[in-house]
Amino acid sequence: MPPPVAAEVTRRKEQRAAAPAARQRAARDHTAGMITALGFDADDTLWHNETIFEEYHRRFQALLARYHDPQTVERALFATEMRNLELFGYGVKSFTLSAIETAIELTQGSIPADELRALLQMGKTMLAHPVELLDGVAETVAALAIQYPLFVITKGDLHHQERKFNRSGLAPHFAEIEIVSEKDARTYARILQHHGLTPGGFLMVGNSLRSDILPVIEIGGHAAHVPYPITWEAEQAAPPPAECGRFHALHHIRELPALVARLNGAGAR
Ligand SMILES: [Mg+2]
Repeated sequence: MPPPVAAEVTRRKEQRAAAPAARQRAARDHTAGMITALGFDADDTLWHNETIFEEYHRRFQALLARYHDPQTVERALFATEMRNLELFGYGVKSFTLSAIETAIELTQGSIPADELRALLQMGKTMLAHPVELLDGVAETVAALAIQYPLFVITKGDLHHQERKFNRSGLAPHFAEIEIVSEKDARTYARILQHHGLTPGGFLMVGNSLRSDILPVIEIGGHAAHVPYPITWEAEQAAPPPAECGRFHALHHIRELPALVARLNGAGAR
């Protein structure tokens, strides 16, 4: 059985030698229906990701340019990815396999081995790419971690996401990282239950409306959308209805501490 969240909160806070006032506040908030814990998406919320994929797409199109135009290549690659999703799941390794499969299909099997090797190498380069935090992330996460237990909830390759998390420098601020195969309502409900959290006291932060916002709103949680300049086609979705009151559209992650303070200030009255 996991430790109750209050015990975990206390342990983490003691580790950081947080002020006694913060501990008292956390205990009070737990009963007052306020935000008591935050979840963060990782890719394109904490660190850059889609820009790295975009670079691969450009190089993939260039490699196949003598066979097909970029639009055809792009369409075929996306179709292969979607077809393989159930078997491969998300992440760079799955993407690399789909790129190789697409290249074989689009060249009707005539692509030379050295070009397939180039595709594999591009995948390895993506996996080894240094973690680049988004602007404002380090300060915002550090500030919120003093008051709240923070969780990373991400999908993708287990090994790759763990590696990025450990290299990000953010790990000491987080109570836990949850790497899951799909971010749907059931997954979020399971994670919250596992950590003894209630949806009404939980705020999820992320760039994907489909994965980070809609399922959390569905189970009764709060969700803050911080858009990234590029959104993968498979992650696009319409925002939830404004009247639900638990959806918060932000422009920048730096706005997050003020949002949490406002939500909890309103709850205290
Ligand atoms: Mg993301």
